[in-house]
Amino acid sequence: MEICNHMQVSFDAKSVNEGLARMVVTAFMTEMNPTLEQIADVKTAVSEAVTNAIIHGYEDEDKLVELSCERNGQQLVVTVEDHGVGIANLQEAMQPFYTTKPQLERSGMGFSFMEAFMDKIEVRSNMGKGTKVVMWKYIEREKNQ
Ligand code: ATP
Ligand code: MG
Repeated sequence: MEICNHMQVSFDAKSVNEGLARMVVTAFMTEMNPTLEQIADVKTAVSEAVTNAIIHGYEDEDKLVELSCERNGQQLVVTVEDHGVGIANLQEAMQPFYTTKPQLERSGMGFSFMEAFMDKIEVRSNMGKGTKVVMWKYIEREKNQ
């Protein structure tokens, strides 16, 4: 029987909580016996999505970011959602180097990193309603376990 599990947490959209989000996801996936590389990949992707929710979604307003993790066997699904401004043109926003905040020294690589470090990502966004990023990664069991 495959092991299934789920968790959900929400936290203030403050950059101090980026570390919290990474730790929560790391703790959740530890049961899946990931490699250190897989943990690092997921942490990077989660950081990018959470940072986007905080700085773009809410533009530093203290609203809530929702993070959820789901395990279906060795398949991990992480969702990061905000109820902020939304993205007008998703296709354009997801292009490498595209950023609407160059003045903050953003490089426009957040979505590219999420795509590179996870197996698949899906983004849904509505103007004035918010943005939801769903990311999948298959966690191969570390050998000898
Ligand atoms: P970097 O991630 O490299 O620091 P960036 O955040 O600008 O730079 P991406 O993460 O790829 O780059 O995001 C691209 C653009 O998509 C952002 O500049 C922003 O306009 C928009 N965007 C991303 N996430 C959100 C969000 N949650 N809410 C509103 N806009 C978003
Ligand atoms: Mg970003």
